[in-house]
Amino acid sequence: AVEFVDVSKSFGALRVIDNLSLRIRRSERVSLIGPSGSGKTTILRLLMTLEKPSEGTIKVFGGALSAGGRGLRESEVAPLRAKIGMVFQQFNLFPHMTALANVMEAPVQVLRMPKPDAKALAESLLERVGLKEKGASYPSELSGGQQQRVAIARALAMKPQIMLFDEITSALDPEVIGEVLDVVHSLAHETKMAMLVVTHEMGFARDIADRVIFMEKGRIVEEGNPAKLFASPDNIRTKAFLNAVK
Ligand code: ATP
Repeated sequence: AVEFVDVSKSFGALRVIDNLSLRIRRSERVSLIGPSGSGKTTILRLLMTLEKPSEGTIKVFGGALSAGGRGLRESEVAPLRAKIGMVFQQFNLFPHMTALANVMEAPVQVLRMPKPDAKALAESLLERVGLKEKGASYPSELSGGQQQRVAIARALAMKPQIMLFDEITSALDPEVIGEVLDVVHSLAHETKMAMLVVTHEMGFARDIADRVIFMEKGRIVEEGNPAKLFASPDNIRTKAFLNAVK
């Protein structure tokens, strides 16, 4: 469903993604782990077209987001990007809108869904993330864990075929991390959405994924079955990383 072919990305002289090729199949769950600065977030940002590759081609759901390092026309890219949902470390909710309005916004503005339909959809999604009673609350009235669950509901409102999760627990207090991870686990069990998860929580990376990818310096060092990779990595650098984060 998602394919990177020989993709590189540089910021000035810094090569952040180095000739990366990667495929994520329909319904596959992939965790990306690796040291700070290894390029994990950049991969998600390339998929969201928040960054353009310097070289290579990125395809999603049969269409190209970029080719030969060039971005393509917005009219071609927008419908593809609409199939990708992203949840950020910082929840990025609209502060002046209620939880319900935050979730309704994209279906109304982007999909031109009639408001009553968008409201019904948003209510069902808030219920799904355990926030049925919080639709009228503003982000400032919610805990970090609740805000992050609203952000997940908001991404789901576009009915994405793949969800990107970028360190979604890093800004949270420890006591609310579990409620956010539980929501992601239940999505994984109850839907067929593909997922690409960047996380520093190794337990989460292992439990959510069909495949784990360990990156360093913009390259894939090792990838494979989560149980196997975490228990007995083949590569010495993977081993060193896992020992250091344990
Ligand atoms: P972390 O685990 O700390 O989030 P990461 O693996 O997600 O790290 P990226 O955020 O992808 O790493 O960043 C890779 C490198 O690219 C870093 O050295 C970062 O400083 C650099 N970088 C990212 N965005 C930019 C930018 N817009 N301009 C310049 N350098 C950037």
